[in-house]
Amino acid sequence: MALHVHPDIQSLSPYVPGKPIEELQRELGLARVIKLASNENPLGPSPKALAALAGGAQTLHRYPDGGAYQLRQALADRWKVTSDHIILGNGSDEIIGLLARTFLSPGDEAVMADQTFVIYKMEVVAAHGTPVVVPLTAWTHDLEAMARAVTPKTKLLFLCNPNNPTGTMVPAEAVDRLMARIPSDVIVVFDEAYVEYVRDPHFPDSLAYVKQGRHAIVLRTFSKIYGLAGLRIGYGVTTPAINNFLNRVRPPFNANSLAQRAALAALGDDEHVARSRAVNAAGMEQVGAGLRALGLSPIPSEANFIYVDVKRDGRKVFDALLREGIIVRHIEGTMVRVTIGQPDENAAFLNALKKTLSSAGQP
Ligand SMILES: *Cc1c(COP(=O)(O)O)cnc(C)c1O
Repeated sequence: MALHVHPDIQSLSPYVPGKPIEELQRELGLARVIKLASNENPLGPSPKALAALAGGAQTLHRYPDGGAYQLRQALADRWKVTSDHIILGNGSDEIIGLLARTFLSPGDEAVMADQTFVIYKMEVVAAHGTPVVVPLTAWTHDLEAMARAVTPKTKLLFLCNPNNPTGTMVPAEAVDRLMARIPSDVIVVFDEAYVEYVRDPHFPDSLAYVKQGRHAIVLRTFSKIYGLAGLRIGYGVTTPAINNFLNRVRPPFNANSLAQRAALAALGDDEHVARSRAVNAAGMEQVGAGLRALGLSPIPSEANFIYVDVKRDGRKVFDALLREGIIVRHIEGTMVRVTIGQPDENAAFLNALKKTLSSAGQP
């Protein structure tokens, strides 16, 4: 029996998520597994979010508020826009898919970096658009080259800032030049999943472009610093005109009721955010110094992970670390991405890596 599948879909491979802790425990019979693979918050969820969740169980027989009135209003207040600028997603991942389905016709192009969040390419291809991939320079988005890659067919331009997996950031000035150069009908997608971790004061104010009425959307998420990855909730801040069309494609109950409650509480938990930032900043120093002590050169990161060339087959290093109960991410070739954890987790990772690199010998 033939299975008729669109060639674009046939060309896709399934997304490979970070290995779940329970899976590794089952496979290797390990008592303790440390997951530093998916840029999750090592402190766990915001305690205020957990408290809010408890109250949400009684109404699980009801559909969620499809318009998410309270959460969208709170986000609008936070970012000083009206709530018609806010769209929620089942994770910001979903909004990437909505953008592709809403704005790409077959043959339309979406410009993105070659090493960036893999979901962009997947959603663009699934929507029958054409990804136009521009190499990074010095592990950073090359905005000049991205501007040159824009053609009359370009509908979307993805800028992941800080970039996953490299951790690098493009500064305000470079983004200003990009915005001045590209046609105003291109929708610029600022994916800022890690913005709360950024320390560099030159980080761009991307919301300003939305407020000026440029075709732009700023994607944020509750999955990273807010510690709610398992609930699946993210959001976009965009113009009411763009939002109006996204809302025609958005599944009406895409943000579930527990996620809405928890996100609202987490948004007000400045203390958890501050603590998470501080733990990350300290961990960044610890892991950075530890990697340098092993003779490696980690790429300076503005996020909650470090991208590093382990100078040998990264897949083998990944596998050896698994046997030590540490889950990182092998990205490609000799490149490995590790999430910053709590101090003892970082130390365990550095110890295991030291052991792995010395037993693997010199490159
Ligand atoms: C983690 C991440 C997201 C957020 O994904 P969710 O679907 O909100 O969990 C978005 N973009 C990038 C670059 C990420 O790394």
